[in-house]
Amino acid sequence: MPRRTKIVATVGPASQSEQRIAELIEAGVNVFRLNFSHGTMEDHLEVAHRIRRQAMAQETYVGILADLQGPKIRIGGFADGKVTLEEGALFSLDTALIGDTGTVRSVGLEYRALCEQASRDDILLLDDGRIRLQVTAVDGGVVETQVLVGGELGSRKGINMLGGGLAAPALTDKDRADIARMEELRPDFVAVSFVSAAGDIFETRDLLLAQGLEPAIIAKIERAEVVEDEITLKGILSASHGIMVARGDLGVEVGDASLIGIQKDLISRARRMDRVVITATQMMESMINSPMPTRAEVFDVANAVLDGTDAVMLSAETAVGKFPVDVVRAMSDTCLGAEEHPNTRRSRYRIDREFNSAQETVAMASIYAANHYSAVRGIACLTESGTTPLLMSRLSSGRPIFALSSNINTLKRLCLCRGVIPLYFDAESFQQGELDARSIEYIKSCGYLHKGDAILLTKGEVLGEKGATNMMKILPVT
Ligand code: PGA
Ligand code: MN
Repeated sequence: MPRRTKIVATVGPASQSEQRIAELIEAGVNVFRLNFSHGTMEDHLEVAHRIRRQAMAQETYVGILADLQGPKIRIGGFADGKVTLEEGALFSLDTALIGDTGTVRSVGLEYRALCEQASRDDILLLDDGRIRLQVTAVDGGVVETQVLVGGELGSRKGINMLGGGLAAPALTDKDRADIARMEELRPDFVAVSFVSAAGDIFETRDLLLAQGLEPAIIAKIERAEVVEDEITLKGILSASHGIMVARGDLGVEVGDASLIGIQKDLISRARRMDRVVITATQMMESMINSPMPTRAEVFDVANAVLDGTDAVMLSAETAVGKFPVDVVRAMSDTCLGAEEHPNTRRSRYRIDREFNSAQETVAMASIYAANHYSAVRGIACLTESGTTPLLMSRLSSGRPIFALSSNINTLKRLCLCRGVIPLYFDAESFQQGELDARSIEYIKSCGYLHKGDAILLTKGEVLGEKGATNMMKILPVT
């Protein structure tokens, strides 16, 4: 059985050569993340060309996700590159300090608004929460703090506030400039960092549209305020195609203990609203330096699979780690192992809900039929927009969903959908009468079906039309 859970891998110095990209695709990467916090547009463009060439060479579909930097708030630089902060020491963040002039007493701060948004007793978390500072006073452009948890602090590390509340607008000037130059890159997905409301997604969509681009938009959920506010969260989900459970920043703001439940809640909300969901950050962190994951990491990845995530993501592991290919293999094996669990193969979900369209009705009925009739070895779905396979994959199943489409953008978007195997198939080049047989033959020729299996096929009477799916059939594989 092919792996259902998809793997997103971040490209960086450890993974950007053409040879390495080829190995990563072979190891199982479904979507590559280009991180716009680093590198130039020219770098990203070159990497995108390599990805597309290698995906084509391996006759597979691989998506490209452009991850906008967003308003990550950072400290300035230190004269010596880093300092060691002692517990109890006084340390100030000073908007008047320019350049790499930081010392063990103070460091620069470009984000002036911190002086309005922080107040006495707030806890600031630096470097993903490794350093904790308590605000003692705000004096004009200087935030005075006392070190609660010290340690080594390097230049330009990120700042979060415990409980959230650092409310810089999601799209920065750099993000806008990056979008304005994305025409040639043609990403399949664009991720918006530190989303604060649905408006951030609409704005991103409009800016992309102005470049003639219509990628799927992924909202990164990484602010405490967003998960604490029901209406805001729902608005973001309905505005976007999918979300990322961005555990790095979110975990720092809400605390890891709360993150456990939040991850489960975000995944199930996304699925209920027909959105895709990526679970991200520190999934196999130890493999940055080690050839094997820890058992805890294996179980963290497995837990996300059992929670129902569409995809799991690798960040530094593939961007700068020593074992970029091994970590993809380890992650893939872990997903396959978790997918053995019966809970991932059945669903009672939506059983007592009204459906909204013929398309949804056929999609839901198909999964139930396939899950309850063991002769059915897979679902063939002739699709234009990819909506039917997306809807199908919101339900748990052990049966692969073969999405047959001649629309390349649809096929690439489906790279993120759990359980969906995108296959190029031009239905319109066949006569109506031979279409069913041809599609089954094609899936069989790809090695997925055998004589004697049955397959469930869905399509619309009118081919090539969006949302037209209204038929399902069970056919023998001959
Ligand atoms: P980042 O986003 O890696 O761009 O920070 C993911 C996260 O915060 O978890
Ligand atoms: Mn983040």
